[in-house]
Amino acid sequence: MRRSILLVLAALALLTPTHPTFAQKKFITRENVSRILKALSADDKMGRPSMEPAVMEKSIVFIEGEFKRIGLAPLDGLKSFRQEFTQDAIAGSTIAITANNKMIEKSDVIVYSSKDNFRWNSAANVYRIKKSDNPAQLFRRYSQDTTDAIVLIDTTHAKAFKAFQSRFAKKRILNASSKSGTKVFVLSTDTLIAALDVAVSQRKEKLVLTNVVGQLKANVATNESVIFSGHYDHLGILPPTEGDSIANGADDDASGVTAVIMLAEHFKKQKERRRNLIFVAFTAEEIGGFGARYFSSNLNPNDMVAMFNIEMIGKVSKWGPNAAFITGFERSDFGTILQQNLQGSAFTFHPDPYIAQNLFYRSDNATLARLGVPAHTISTDQIDTDKLYHTVNDEFESIDISNMTEIIRAIAQSASTIVNGNAKPTRIDTSKVD
Ligand SMILES: [Zn+2]
Repeated sequence: MRRSILLVLAALALLTPTHPTFAQKKFITRENVSRILKALSADDKMGRPSMEPAVMEKSIVFIEGEFKRIGLAPLDGLKSFRQEFTQDAIAGSTIAITANNKMIEKSDVIVYSSKDNFRWNSAANVYRIKKSDNPAQLFRRYSQDTTDAIVLIDTTHAKAFKAFQSRFAKKRILNASSKSGTKVFVLSTDTLIAALDVAVSQRKEKLVLTNVVGQLKANVATNESVIFSGHYDHLGILPPTEGDSIANGADDDASGVTAVIMLAEHFKKQKERRRNLIFVAFTAEEIGGFGARYFSSNLNPNDMVAMFNIEMIGKVSKWGPNAAFITGFERSDFGTILQQNLQGSAFTFHPDPYIAQNLFYRSDNATLARLGVPAHTISTDQIDTDKLYHTVNDEFESIDISNMTEIIRAIAQSASTIVNGNAKPTRIDTSKVD
């Protein structure tokens, strides 16, 4: 079903006249888009799990190779395209728990804590996720809650529980800025805790994580820079569905990284570059945006004129082909500038139509926006109905290469006046950013 719909849409895309400039057509090719996306979403990248640096190495080497082929330079102060940083992580835990004098199986427990060790003989707070509750919503709320608590999850939510567990049982970054209290989630038919004994010890380790960053210097002396970004990490291995367990993340966000590489190739060939262009493939977006946080802590936000963050442009938008949307549209005039640069073309960029989804805060642009940078995400994803999102089925075969190539050409065209220095988006009001 999906395949035939995609074929129809692809056929429509071919029938729609587009007028990209010669340069966009010449340097942003369908062949390269397909080749890069295929490589980044191949099974040998193992779903690009940021918590497994040894596994990530293949993806890093691939992106470095592209930056080198195109002729980018390392960022000022770096010797290579690698921007490395360390994070403390929890690598594993030992859990012994009895509740109401019953031993609880480790498979029925999720510990969410930044402590090395803790022992509880009574519960300060007991929360419940009842049969009638939305488990995903409450799981998120309780894990962010600042108190220490036991959370009893009704056994009817066993499937959702296992999904959380597969996420939390993995190695996890210790978020120093997080104020979350310790939570012990227990899958149980009990609704009260009369007696409790919890003993947990967690093993910590230091992880080296890597953003891949290249730049093209302006052909005039300037401190002003424009950032093009996507995140190359994804979810790694998920519980198997029909024999497949690799979350290839073709759309999320190999498509964005492919765009970043293609835009680098395009702008390398342009003579009118009056701002420095920074091309970055972030790590650790999916687990909390740690790559973008480190990146932003090493630059002067006042020099950053705009950030084009690109997320999930591999499928046709709700408006059909040749269209995309911009998150946080009303927060600066970035989107209006892009629209002006697309006037007379077949491309349309719209304000984000999925406001309830909070997409402005769900990607790396938010980190830069908090510093005042006009930092927005460009996407085509129909996030409200996307059945492939964060599943093992987000694969190369589901991507509309033809439309994706056109969208990258559109981004190149939409950025032209920001790159050549003729337009400067208004800053984002940081007092209005959460
Ligand atoms: Zn993403």
